[in-house]
Amino acid sequence: MPLADWQAVLLSMPALALFGLCVGSFLNVVIHRLPQQVERDLKEQASDILGLPAPDLGPPLTLSHPPSRCPSCGHRIRWYENIPVVSWLALRGRCSSCKTGISARYPAIEILCGVLFAAMGWLHGPHPVTLAWCGFAALLLAAALIDWDTTYLPDVLTGPLLWGGLVAATLGWTIPLPDAVWGAVGGFMSLWTVAAAWKLVRGEIGMADGDFILLAGLGAWLGWQMLLPLVLAASAIGAIVGIGMWLSGALREGRYVPFGPFLAGAGLAVLFAGRERVFGWMGWA
Ligand SMILES: [Zn+2]
Repeated sequence: MPLADWQAVLLSMPALALFGLCVGSFLNVVIHRLPQQVERDLKEQASDILGLPAPDLGPPLTLSHPPSRCPSCGHRIRWYENIPVVSWLALRGRCSSCKTGISARYPAIEILCGVLFAAMGWLHGPHPVTLAWCGFAALLLAAALIDWDTTYLPDVLTGPLLWGGLVAATLGWTIPLPDAVWGAVGGFMSLWTVAAAWKLVRGEIGMADGDFILLAGLGAWLGWQMLLPLVLAASAIGAIVGIGMWLSGALREGRYVPFGPFLAGAGLAVLFAGRERVFGWMGWA
């Protein structure tokens, strides 16, 4: 890359990091509220199907309404208490009213999103495609954390990941379109086949539909060639974490470790490692 391009890349990275901090702040709201919205929808649908009276769900809940409040004392969070990372540090991780601790996870997610966005600028430079990859990272981050919290992967996140990957390939921004299409089809079908076989043999559900769509989405962005490395990496790390949690007693009875966070992490790892290096590791080079 010539020097002028390097300067543009370096200049774009702080702007992307700031943008990522703000998007991360929004993702915190999504991660907190989207599962609640899905649960309300499911309750409404279930009572509709069963012919039961409509459930009492309380006031409506959207991403912007009602405004954020302290879960302990109900103190309404002001705009200046909601500045990414800065507010958390200024408040020393405590509610300004009741001094109850605010989880360090909130600023951690904001920082992670800022770092990921800056890294996308490093990879792709000042080009619209960088914003597309930032969207890829943001969707993966939100999907992974919701899956970790609830073992549920919302379609409203995995769906746009899939369609976005196919559109980006069609625009010529990412990989050749056939690689993206076969990546999406192969990603969905491979996990679906494993899950169907498991259900046939064991009579239980080992994976949720959300995992199929998530891997289809990763295939659409990274290509069918990356499906095997993705599943291998996600399974290996997932198994290590699962065994670790089981040994330490962190895995609760009847619960399982969701696969989505590891697929999402593997997707980002494969992206940053690059095709050539992954091919080398797999012995395909
Ligand atoms: Zn409070």
